[in-house]
Amino acid sequence: MDLNALLHAFTPSLTSVAMLLAFFTYLAIAGSILPGRIVPGVTLSDSTRLHYRCNGLLLLILLVSLLGIGGWMDLVSPTAIADRGLELLSTTLIFSLFVTLLLYMAGCRSRSQSSSFKPHFTGNLIHDWWFGIQLNPQFMGIDLKFYFVRAGMMGWLLINLSVLAKCIQETDLSRSMILYQIFCVLYILDYFFYEEYMTSTWDIIAERLGFMLVFGDLVWIPFTFSIQGWWLLKNEVELTTAAVIANCLVFLIGYLVFRGANKQKHDFKKNPKALIWGRPPKVVGGKLLASGYWGIARHSNYLGDLLLALSFSLPCGISSPVPYFYPIYLFILLIWRERRDEARCAQKYKKIWAEYTKLVPWRILPYVY
Ligand code: NDP
Repeated sequence: MDLNALLHAFTPSLTSVAMLLAFFTYLAIAGSILPGRIVPGVTLSDSTRLHYRCNGLLLLILLVSLLGIGGWMDLVSPTAIADRGLELLSTTLIFSLFVTLLLYMAGCRSRSQSSSFKPHFTGNLIHDWWFGIQLNPQFMGIDLKFYFVRAGMMGWLLINLSVLAKCIQETDLSRSMILYQIFCVLYILDYFFYEEYMTSTWDIIAERLGFMLVFGDLVWIPFTFSIQGWWLLKNEVELTTAAVIANCLVFLIGYLVFRGANKQKHDFKKNPKALIWGRPPKVVGGKLLASGYWGIARHSNYLGDLLLALSFSLPCGISSPVPYFYPIYLFILLIWRERRDEARCAQKYKKIWAEYTKLVPWRILPYVY
C-alpha cells in the first residue's frame, strides 16, 4: 500500500463517524433502559457507593441479533467494520482525544468534594489529561468508566465477527480462524456474564478517567486484541490436530485460573466466610484472602489472563511475532500493574499486607516470580 492509499485508509469518513455514533447511542440508550442486576460498587473514601446496571450480556446479544437480522435483510453489510478497519481506528482515536479534552475541562470546573467528582490536579496538564481528573465522571447519569470499558469489549467482538464474515466471503475458513473466533467469543461472553465482577477491579475502583483509560478501552482493546483475526485473513496456517488440542488446553487452564481467581476474590469480598475450594477461607488480618488461588500467588488471576492471551495467538502458529502482540503487551502491562497494585495494597493494608506477602511470596507465577 503506498502512502496516499494508506492516508486514505486512515481518513475518517462520514460512514465511520455514523457507525461509531450509532454504536455509542445504542449503548447509552439500551444500557439505560434494558433490565439488569443493579450491583453496588465498592465503598468509596467518602462512604458513598455507585450502583451499576449489569445488563451488558443482554445488550450484546440484542445488538448482535439486530445486526444479524440487518445483515440477513441486506440492510447492513456484515463486513462493514472489516472493510473500514483503519478508518474506524482513526475515528475512534479522534473521538477519544475529544472526549478526554471534555473530561479534562469538566474536571477542572468541578467544585464537588465527593470521592467520585472531586478534581485531582497536579498542575501538569499532560499528566492530568492522561491520568484523568475525576474518579467517576458521568454524562447524563451514565457512569462513563463502566460505559467505555463495555464499549471496548463489545467493539472487539463486533470487529472479530466482521473479520469472520470477510474471511467466509473471501477465503476458506481455516481451523485457526475458527479456534481464534471461538476463544474470543467465549472470553467476551464470559466477561459480560460476570460483568458485575468488573465493579471491583482496579480500573473501576482506583483509576481516574483520563486519556489512558479511554484510549485503552475504546482503541486499544478492540483494535489491538483483534490483530490475530486480521492477520489470519492474510496468512495461511496449517494446524495439526495435536496443536489444536494443546491450544484448547492452554485456553481451558487459563480460563479456569482466570475466572476461578477473580470469582474467589469477588465471593470473599461479598462474604468473607464463603467456602474456598470447599473449605473455610484462610484470612490475613480479617481482610485478605490467603487460600485458593490467592494462597498460591498474589495475582494468579494475571497468570490465567496471560495463558488466555497466549491461547488467542497460538492458532496463528509461530511464523510471525505479529499475532503475539496481545500476549506480549499484556505481559508487560500486568507486570507493571502488579507492581502498582502491590504499592497501593502495601499502603492501604500496611502490616497485614506484609504478613500476606510473607505467607504468599509469589507474585504471579509460583516458584518463578
Ligand atoms: P485484581 O482484580 O487482582 O484486584 C486487585 C485488588 O484486589 C487490590 O487492589 C485489592 O483491592 C484486592 N486484593 C488484592 N489481593 C487480595 C487478597 N488476597 N484478598 C482480598 N483482596 C485482595 O486486579 P485488576 O483489577 O488489575 O484485574 C482484574 C482482572 O482483569 C484480572 O484478571 C486481570 O488479568 C484483568 N485485566 C485484563 C486486562 C487486559 O487488557 N486484558 C487489563 C487489566 C486487567 P482492595 O483495596 O479492594 O482490597
